[in-house]
Amino acid sequence: MKNDQQTYVPDPEVASRLLEWYGREGRDLPWRRTRDPYRIWISEVILQQTRVAQGMSYYHRFLELFPDVAALASAPEDLVLKCWQGLGYYSRVRNLHRAAVLLCEEYGGELPADYDRLLALPGVGEYTAGAVASIAFGLPVPAVDGNVLRVAVRLDNDFTPITDAKFKKQTRERFAALMPSDRPGDLNQSLMELGATVCLPNGAPRCDDCPIQHLCEGFHRGNAAVLPLRAAKKARRVENRT
Ligand code: SF4
Repeated sequence: MKNDQQTYVPDPEVASRLLEWYGREGRDLPWRRTRDPYRIWISEVILQQTRVAQGMSYYHRFLELFPDVAALASAPEDLVLKCWQGLGYYSRVRNLHRAAVLLCEEYGGELPADYDRLLALPGVGEYTAGAVASIAFGLPVPAVDGNVLRVAVRLDNDFTPITDAKFKKQTRERFAALMPSDRPGDLNQSLMELGATVCLPNGAPRCDDCPIQHLCEGFHRGNAAVLPLRAAKKARRVENRT
């Protein structure tokens, strides 16, 4: 749906359809059975660059060794790194460790129920802050990752590359306007779930199984599989050397 300024505003029906679908079809994952902010935070960091199947065993092992913020903060760094072995992107776990120390020093070992304070923690970006704030604390803030950006461009038949910083900001604002006060975490998770299981990347969306197909401009225009568009590569500079 476009408003007067021709900016995309998702139809409110997108939220109600997704929530209904998520309640019925959402995968039963261990971090969805808890409201513990620490566990939700750990799961979000593990899943940043990792597939669910691989991340699951790490999630359980990490929480067995470090069941809460205080346990993580007081653990020696080499033990924390060892627990992460095989997952890669070690800056993630170093930041987790640093953030845990800071949480003990400044927040009594609890995660703050505040988006900006979460965002200020080491290694926590807008997506993770939004996910923890909405899922653990019920705050009406969006959590926009690559999955959600892909859904957004397809929904609006938008040819802007999803790496575009302005587009990301606009998408956050647009989905913020959709957040229901009672289930913001579920709406964020339903969007991520749609991107992860139905609105798939690499030209393979499963539109026939999509609960918001009738609201999707990209589908109706026949462009679902070609979106999102890749950003044009910068021309290579050719240097003449003698
Ligand atoms: Fe994605 Fe297809 Fe659903 Fe549109 S109809 S949101 S392209 S899965």
